[in-house]
Amino acid sequence: MKRILVLGGGMGGVEAAIALTQKLKGDYQIDLISNRDFLYIYPASIWLTVGKRTLEDLSVPLPQLAEIHGFNFLQEEVKEVRAKDQLVLTLTYP
Ligand SMILES: Cc1cc2nc3c(=O)[nH]c(=O)nc-3n(C[C@H](O)[C@H](O)[C@H](O)COP(=O)(O)OP(=O)(O)OC[C@H]3O[C@@H](n4cnc5c(N)ncnc54)[C@H](O)[C@@H]3O)c2cc1C
Repeated sequence: MKRILVLGGGMGGVEAAIALTQKLKGDYQIDLISNRDFLYIYPASIWLTVGKRTLEDLSVPLPQLAEIHGFNFLQEEVKEVRAKDQLVLTLTYP
């Protein structure tokens, strides 16, 4: 099966992974790599600074999103992208 790799588990990456999965599921495996295991909701940060919300409140677990939407999540640190060779070098978290 062909694979599509999405780098970064922010709003852009997660939205891309969801949209690609919806359009291409069955034909492609969609993998999302991010160095942290949660999507952080930046626009709600103001509530964190005034103590109305916790970091946990503004963080959506990526493994859960991946399971719900049908893409694969890998928690890894991207170190280098070699686009010509279609190669992404990463460090895997223990
Ligand atoms: C305080 C604040 C309020 C905001 N309010 C709004 C708003 O009201 N409306 C609006 O439209 N926008 C708002 N924004 C902007 C919005 O949050 C950003 O445009 C959006 O988060 C960008 O999404 P992104 O996926 O491109 O990047 P990011 O959200 O930065 O996501 C990048 C992801 O990649 C991961 N990553 C980074 N480096 C690596 C690496 N080497 N290896 C693996 N993973 C890596 C990070 O951990 C992160 O998960 C706000 C931003 C801030 C800071």
